[in-house]
Amino acid sequence: MNITSKFPNMETTIFSQISVLASKHQATNLGQGFPNFGADPYLIERLNYHTSQGVNQYAPMTGMPQLLESINKLHNNGEVTITSGATEAIFCAISAIVHPGDEVIVFDPSYDSYVPNIELNGGIANRINLSSDFSIDWNLVKSKITPKTKAIIINTPHNPSGNMLTKSDLDSLWELIKNRNIFIISDEVYQFITYDGRKHLSPMDDERMRDRTFAISSFGKTFHVTGWKVGYCRTCEKLTKEFRKIHQYITFCTPGNIQLAISDMLEKKMANVNGLSSFYQNKRDLFANALRYSNFKLLPVEGSYFQLVDYSELSESDDVEFCQQLIIEHGVAAIPTSVFYQTPPKQRIIRFCFAKKDETLISGLQILKELKA
Ligand code: PMP
Ligand code: GLN
Repeated sequence: MNITSKFPNMETTIFSQISVLASKHQATNLGQGFPNFGADPYLIERLNYHTSQGVNQYAPMTGMPQLLESINKLHNNGEVTITSGATEAIFCAISAIVHPGDEVIVFDPSYDSYVPNIELNGGIANRINLSSDFSIDWNLVKSKITPKTKAIIINTPHNPSGNMLTKSDLDSLWELIKNRNIFIISDEVYQFITYDGRKHLSPMDDERMRDRTFAISSFGKTFHVTGWKVGYCRTCEKLTKEFRKIHQYITFCTPGNIQLAISDMLEKKMANVNGLSSFYQNKRDLFANALRYSNFKLLPVEGSYFQLVDYSELSESDDVEFCQQLIIEHGVAAIPTSVFYQTPPKQRIIRFCFAKKDETLISGLQILKELKA
């Protein structure tokens, strides 16, 4: 049998590659973005409870009513659909709007599922590099819009840079799209992890853009359970209808016992969500303080649980090579950033994830701060 590959040049995602190499060399894994500490025991207790109560059959396609209600208390508008992780929601949103030949603007470095999802729908990713400080150059965006531009994907707080969009960014976005038929897919999985008092801004909460935005989030990040894969999409009624047409034939539903456990957390432990920023800010600062006098140059982090570092003082290797050396020779794993670009700029920057136990961070940092050229 012959199979004609839809993605002949596609490799296994960098997150799997690095995690496999890290575990082979027993390296401290500061690469793939997942916490290595446990979730709140109450969440686990509620999952056990609902499972033992027999919530083990198909959930409603749109989500468990209890969870939908809990999420509605977080937001003032939009209809919510529960998905199997943000990954599914991103796929459904893109599939709902992108027709063959449509262009979608994506900012590089970009989360690695966006472009394959666009291409699977016959769309064309129009990839624009972020500026050197990882902000969006809106004049450049304007020059890249064509009559075929169907959507713009934004991600705030941004993975991997930690940058957050401001009110002025949303204003610039609106100016560009207001007279055009352009949708917004807003990946907001780190919406509750923001630093130094910054507030997360969603185009879904801006009435000018509400009827064209898909706002996507994930409880994996919020409750330290990335493996549970529960996410959601919030959009207007009309777009929800189209979104659900895809969702119902991709997964149909997400485990109901998990949804109820998450709903219980939102009802009883909202303090955890509100405390997430200060919890992670301590880790961000622990990381930054340890490397302050090292040969790494740290870039500012406004949100998310990632820290970009420039290693130019340490090595002339490219970032993929440098990450391999870091694992094999020094026992610490990080993620190269060039893989998130179509046209990587000349830079030597890698990403660390600081969603780790303090002891894990400290053992990794002890190695990193001693590294010499
Ligand atoms: N978008 C971004 C920016 C992410 O970092 C991630 C995962 N870490 C996702 C989407 C996917 O989220 P999920 O695990 O809920 O599918
Ligand atoms: N989002 C996580 C990260 O950026 C990884 C998700 C995945 O492994 N697919 O590290």
